[in-house]
Amino acid sequence: MVSEDFWRQLLLVLPLTAVMGVLLGLNIILALRRQARALQDLARHLALEKCDSIRRSVRNLDTFLFPMCLVELPEFLQMGQLVRHEVAREAGQLRCFESHEADGVSASSGTVFVSHQWAGFDHPDPEGRQYSSILLALQGLQERGIACGYIWVDYTSIPQVNEFQQQAAVNSLAVYASHCSVLVAVAPTCTHADTGAEVNLQTYGSRGWCRLELLSYKTGSGLRSGDATIYICDDSGLRNGAADESIADQSILHVLGGSFTCCSRKHPDNMPCDRHKIRDVLLGIYWRLSCIKRDGDLVLASWAREMLQIADTDTEKYFPSHSMYRTASGAQLQEHFDGYLPLLREMFATDSEQGSDSDQHAFVRGTFFTV
Ligand SMILES: [Zn+2]
Repeated sequence: MVSEDFWRQLLLVLPLTAVMGVLLGLNIILALRRQARALQDLARHLALEKCDSIRRSVRNLDTFLFPMCLVELPEFLQMGQLVRHEVAREAGQLRCFESHEADGVSASSGTVFVSHQWAGFDHPDPEGRQYSSILLALQGLQERGIACGYIWVDYTSIPQVNEFQQQAAVNSLAVYASHCSVLVAVAPTCTHADTGAEVNLQTYGSRGWCRLELLSYKTGSGLRSGDATIYICDDSGLRNGAADESIADQSILHVLGGSFTCCSRKHPDNMPCDRHKIRDVLLGIYWRLSCIKRDGDLVLASWAREMLQIADTDTEKYFPSHSMYRTASGAQLQEHFDGYLPLLREMFATDSEQGSDSDQHAFVRGTFFTV
């Protein structure tokens, strides 16, 4: 027999258990909702950060974050070799310009953007072969009637010691290129001082930095002036590089697929990866291509459409979400364009819908084009 007390206690315990069960269930539901809201907030925060990065990249398309440092031709000829930025600065050999001055300099005297591959880890030209080839290129350009009043070359024009100044100059690379009147890819055959490997036109075309410089020029200055001619100067002298496979559009668009010295050296002392440094420049270039497709004349718009089609058909190849950052002690994933391009396209569509009366739209149009 079960006592009456047992039933009384059971009648008390059962509702209490049920209430506690309901409360526990509610608590779990609330905790899950809180967690979902926190995740949503985090996703929104990350998206906003990405939007800010994109806005910054677009704004920087026409801004020198670091002055454009050039060397006048007579001074460059007197140098006798490629000189490090800091040494040239101390010697008073640099002429530094802000963005509103650079076009005037380029129009009146001619500014040559020299793109080349480094033949040593710490010095771009230990044997002087690059410098000799640059002189040959300048002579060839002048013989073709192209003005060469000022020279831009990375080792001399970009700070090599202060990493913050260097990053600011790197972020302005696409802007520097767009303010130059001519680009010459200098690629003599020589031997890399540290690896012993041959350096030539083919290896030049495989370098990530060289591809970025070519892409910056083609989407900037070349298209602004309507002449995107790239000259090549290798062992056979100076020539128009229009038909050269090593600098074909499909290849120069594949910047992150190019080789980078930091990666091949496995980032000694955990040095930052160059692939990571150039994300903002590439976001700006993607925006620029979208502008050309929207605003350019028939030929330019069709070129930009083709470039964007190549990029959009295989986004992971041209604008990868992540890549591996390898060091001697291991590897870790580093973010590049994870989620950026869909946001950029959305922002660009909104910008386009706002029409030409919008300040932002006018600003973007004015960035590289007067339509
Ligand atoms: Zn690297």
